[in-house]
Amino acid sequence: NTQILLRARPVGEPAAEDFSIVSSEVPTPGEGEVLLRTKFLSLDPYMRGRMSDAPSYAAPTALGDVLPGATVAEVVESRDPSRAVGDVVLAYGGWQSFSVAPAAHTRRLDPSVAPVSTALGVLGMPGFTAYAGLTQIGQPKPGETVVVAAATGPVGATVGQIAKILGCRAVGIAGGPEKVAHLTELGFDAALDHRAPDFKDQLKAAVPDGIDIYFENVGGHVWNAVLPRLNKFARVPVCGIVAHYNDTAAPEGPDRAPGLMRHVLNKSLLIRGFIQTEFVRDHEETFLAEAAGWLADGRLRYREDITKGLENAPAAFNRMLRGQNFGKTVIEVS
Ligand code: NDP
Repeated sequence: NTQILLRARPVGEPAAEDFSIVSSEVPTPGEGEVLLRTKFLSLDPYMRGRMSDAPSYAAPTALGDVLPGATVAEVVESRDPSRAVGDVVLAYGGWQSFSVAPAAHTRRLDPSVAPVSTALGVLGMPGFTAYAGLTQIGQPKPGETVVVAAATGPVGATVGQIAKILGCRAVGIAGGPEKVAHLTELGFDAALDHRAPDFKDQLKAAVPDGIDIYFENVGGHVWNAVLPRLNKFARVPVCGIVAHYNDTAAPEGPDRAPGLMRHVLNKSLLIRGFIQTEFVRDHEETFLAEAAGWLADGRLRYREDITKGLENAPAAFNRMLRGQNFGKTVIEVS
C-alpha cells in the first residue's frame, strides 16, 4: 500500500520535504467493512488547512498521518452484504492506494449516470458547495447579476452555470486567456482575467447594474475590486479565500476593516461564511437529482484536470493553489 504522509507542517507553499511517501501492508477489513483500491483521489484547497495547525473548523492532520481526501474506489474485499467486490464507491480513503472503511460510510456510484470521477467534482462535494452556497445564501432571483472567481474550477464553474439555469446574469473571473475563453464556452455572460492590468475597470464595465451576488472563492485583489461594485442588499456567500491559504503573515498596508464595515453598513450587505456540510442533510439529495438532470441535458458541463500517479499528488496540489490547474484537480491512482 503506497501512502503519502504529512511529515512537517508547511510554511507558505508546501514543499516536497513536507510529505513522505511510504509503503505499508494492505489493511484487512473487519466485520461490516470493505477494502478499497483507490481509483481517483480528489485534491481540494481545504487540504491546505488540514496541513496546518492553525485553528480551523476541522482538526489538523497529525504529523505522520496519511493526508485525508475523498476517493473513488473499487471494492476488492467486502465484509458487508451491502457491498460486492467490483462495486465502485465514493469514500474518504485519503492519499493512499488502499484503504478500509465501514461499508455504511461509502456511497455506491452508478457509472451510467456519469463518469465515476465526477463524484469528486461536479456531482460531488465541490458541485454541492456551489449549489448550496448559491441557492441557500445567495438566494438568486432571475435577472440578478452573479459574480464568481476561480470560475473554471469545480465550485466556480458550477456556480456560474447554475446561476444561468436560475435566470441570472453570470460573470466569471479566472486567471489567463485560455480559462477566460472556456468561461464563454460554458455560457457565462461575461468573462474576465483577474491578471489583466485593467481588471478593475473590466469588472466595472462587465457589471453595469452592479453585483447582487458575489460568490467568494478567492479573496485578495479580486475581492477588493468587487466590494465597491456590490449593490444594496447584495449577498456574499463566503465559500473560500484560496488566494490566502499559503499566506504566512497579514498583508501590509492600512487596516481595511473599517472600510469594509462601512460598505456592509451603507449597503446592507449580507456576508455569510459556510462549510458545505451544514447543508448536506437538507439539500444533498435534491442537488444530486437536479445536477444529474442538468448534466444529462447539457446545461451543466464540467472539466477535469487529471494527473496520473499518487506520487504526483503534492506537486499537483501546489499547481492547484497557484491556479495552474484547469478544471477539477484529480489524481488517477490506479
Ligand atoms: P479550484 O479548482 O478553482 O482551484 C483554486 C483556484 O483558485 C485556482 O485554479 C485559481 O484559479 C484560483 N486562485 C488561486 N489563487 C488566486 C488568487 N490569488 N486570486 C484569484 N484566484 C486565485 O478550487 P475549487 O473549485 O475546489 O475551490 C474553490 C474555492 O471553494 C476554494 O476557496 C475552496 O477552499 C472553496 N471550497 C469551500 C467549501 C466550503 O464548504 N466552504 C467546499 C469546497 C471548496 P484562476 O487561475 O482562475 O485564478
